[in-house]
Amino acid sequence: MQRTLPITPEDTGYTLHNAATSLIAKMMPDLWEMIEHDAFDPKPQDNFGSYFPRDSQRINQINWQYAATSIRNVIRALAPPMAGAYSYLDETRCILGKVICRPSDLRNKVPGEISFQDNEVLIATGQDFLAVESIIVDGIALDGPAFYEKYLRNMDRPMFRSLPDERLSDTETIAMEGGQPACQKYIFFGLPSLGEEEEQAVIETMRSQWIGMGNKTLEFESRFAEYVGSRWALSTSSCTAALHLALLALGVGPGDEVITTPLTFVATANAIEYTGARPVFVDIDPETLNIDPNRIEAAITPRTKAILPVHYGGLPVDMAAIEALAAKHRLRVLYDAAHAVGGAYQGVNIGGGNHITSFSFYPNKNMTTCEGGMITGNDEAILSELKLLRQHGLRDNAWQRYQTKRIILYETTKLGYKYNLTDLQSAIGLVQLGKLECFQKRREQIALYYNSQIRDMQCVQGCYHPELYGHSRHALHLYVVLLDMQHLCTDRNQIAAALREENIGVGIHYLPIHRHKYYREKYALSPDDYPVADRVGDSCITLPTNPTMSHVDAAMVIKALRKVLKWYSR
Ligand SMILES: *Cc1c(COP(=O)(O)O)cnc(C)c1O
Repeated sequence: MQRTLPITPEDTGYTLHNAATSLIAKMMPDLWEMIEHDAFDPKPQDNFGSYFPRDSQRINQINWQYAATSIRNVIRALAPPMAGAYSYLDETRCILGKVICRPSDLRNKVPGEISFQDNEVLIATGQDFLAVESIIVDGIALDGPAFYEKYLRNMDRPMFRSLPDERLSDTETIAMEGGQPACQKYIFFGLPSLGEEEEQAVIETMRSQWIGMGNKTLEFESRFAEYVGSRWALSTSSCTAALHLALLALGVGPGDEVITTPLTFVATANAIEYTGARPVFVDIDPETLNIDPNRIEAAITPRTKAILPVHYGGLPVDMAAIEALAAKHRLRVLYDAAHAVGGAYQGVNIGGGNHITSFSFYPNKNMTTCEGGMITGNDEAILSELKLLRQHGLRDNAWQRYQTKRIILYETTKLGYKYNLTDLQSAIGLVQLGKLECFQKRREQIALYYNSQIRDMQCVQGCYHPELYGHSRHALHLYVVLLDMQHLCTDRNQIAAALREENIGVGIHYLPIHRHKYYREKYALSPDDYPVADRVGDSCITLPTNPTMSHVDAAMVIKALRKVLKWYSR
């Protein structure tokens, strides 16, 4: 039997999410009424923007079986192939009160399958778009494939529909000049996505009374190594500490030179400075914004000890080219993957394989432990060296001493540091690691949406080109756009400030290292030596892409960008 769901133009107006919401509302007026009357508490800080029932008595009156079937129908009708699926669950969760959407829970489910656990509903979605029944759009009945054809197919990810352009009049005044901000609330660039699971994990660890480095940290390390595919992983108090320790363990010291990129966070260069070595900067490739492997060889001298490439923004550098150079000149390689957890190079996760890699779990990075870092690798000798250096040069750490009643008089064998992670942080890290794939999917959706929107925009060029990456994966820590300054009548800083006034938390990544006073003066660096990084440093803006962002948030970012660029275009 054909069932016809009435759907009006407003339903599909902004986002597919709206369409689904109103369809569900129409099928379940009782549930909708509760939503309308605020029977749910929004939890915006939760990962997926879920809502929790405020009035559990009324919640229990809902026929969940019926609700689930209805939602299954909607998902069948609207769920785009694969990539949108998780996000779809996120949105569905708003309606249902609580839908679990960890990928591990869904792995063995048939698309569309719904199961119950206590008061929770689990829905699996997938590539069953053709199971659709019938939908009326603009007064015309469409079957599923036709709906797909007409409304979804031409979008990079069907999940997104932008705000219609006509909402933006030609003369809309920017907020900086007294107009209304494009967005009501401030959209943060790197808001961490922390939920109840992290809260629980912290509470449990706190109650265990062992909050320093112990079992949880060991578990986090081994899970992380398993995830990236390395033989070992060693946690640290930050990525800065990780870089410092790794350079020391690779034998870098005074008199040495380490080749790196000027387009990075200052921590990369600082870590080299800590060892007493000299950072040598090599200009970037204008396409990838990563260190240009073709320019590295010219910078190698007899003092060069190591190459420290950064996977800028999360896009893996050309590791094959860099490692070939390193082998030829007998150099060590340490990757700064502060942006790249979740990324992959030619099918191997960043951090896996036969090299040393450092990660960051700073709050705005792709996963967080509050503060924290990790070093991964395969070489056991490096690992033992790192362990010593991390803990004052001591062979045993507090956790090992606690395991036995024997008196252990520990002895410092060499000067080390105090750079360890704690169990409280690792407890958060374990949860975040489990959510990383979900976060990554979300980042990809937002980035593809940005791509689709800025493609035809004047004055701005995106830096995410998944069609070129083959078996590599961009971790999308940063979605960077480059402004075409020739067609704008102001500078990048003014554009960024104007966007912030629109309530869009854009970032600037980065002021290139050669322009920092300390480095500029100490090494007499000139912008002429790094023309590409210098130009990028003056034209880059990072748009927010964090997994807590909704489709509407992403649309607001684009709206603000259009408005501000239009205002300042020549
Ligand atoms: C954030 C960052 C670091 C430092 O990470 P912390 O964990 O804050 O010390 C190092 N390198 C790059 C490229 C970064 O973005």
